[in-house]
Amino acid sequence: MYSDFHIHSHHSFDSEQDSSEIIKKCIELNMKEMCFTDHNDFNWPIVGENADLNVKEYFNELSDLRDRYSKDINVNIGVECGLSDANVSLNRNLISSNPFDFVIGSCHEVDNMDPYYPEFFEGKTDRQAFERYFETLSKCVEDFDNFDVVGHIDYIVRYSPNKAENYSPADYSDYIDHILKTVISRGKGIEINTSALSKGFGFTNPCSEIIKRYKDLGGEIITIGSDAHKACFIGCAFDKAGDILKEIGFEYYTVFSGRKPLFRKL
Ligand SMILES: [Zn+2]
Ligand SMILES: [Zn+2]
Repeated sequence: MYSDFHIHSHHSFDSEQDSSEIIKKCIELNMKEMCFTDHNDFNWPIVGENADLNVKEYFNELSDLRDRYSKDINVNIGVECGLSDANVSLNRNLISSNPFDFVIGSCHEVDNMDPYYPEFFEGKTDRQAFERYFETLSKCVEDFDNFDVVGHIDYIVRYSPNKAENYSPADYSDYIDHILKTVISRGKGIEINTSALSKGFGFTNPCSEIIKRYKDLGGEIITIGSDAHKACFIGCAFDKAGDILKEIGFEYYTVFSGRKPLFRKL
């Protein structure tokens, strides 16, 4: 089983999952390594939600668990850092002052809204909504570089009321190419995120066309993540993700430890 490098626990504002159950599930699935990537989104705009990570509690609990399970699995402590132009210096400080093993940079906020909520799509065509999202992500990736991979590049598609029905990545190729080229030139990577597959939508984020474009442009670093917020979704649809990567021509996927990429055979 490929190692899961995108998992949320009760340390995320939108998960209640016990951390040790996550590790036990990874061991049960025969993973040799895994990574917690709980959310940190500074100045989160949704009223009633606080998306700041309690970094001290996070490292305290997970360092203990890492030691406790070290004979069975390599536990890595990462973060899913919410990219936002307004929070560049806060993010820089968070990442440089904590010993994260792995950092996913993800855009969850566009024009002070989370596209997860249907309000984001109100009064917009899918094309307009998608375009605005890619434009925002492209700018965020340019302005902040202390992450290891860009999370779920076309995340917005899984929340559109029409899902991928009106989606063609070619419509946004300027933004997508800019994101991919920036990442590659800085020695960073992307992830293949199986969350939408596990919900039955039939696509990964990003979709295979974007992953192929990344490979064609020379991209080599790609992690595999379920984005599980419950232990039962860990490793979900990873066989399909592996098939997509192999079909595109990847021989290796990537894991991280101490912010260093390590390559594992697919
Ligand atoms: Zn995310
Ligand atoms: Zn996530």
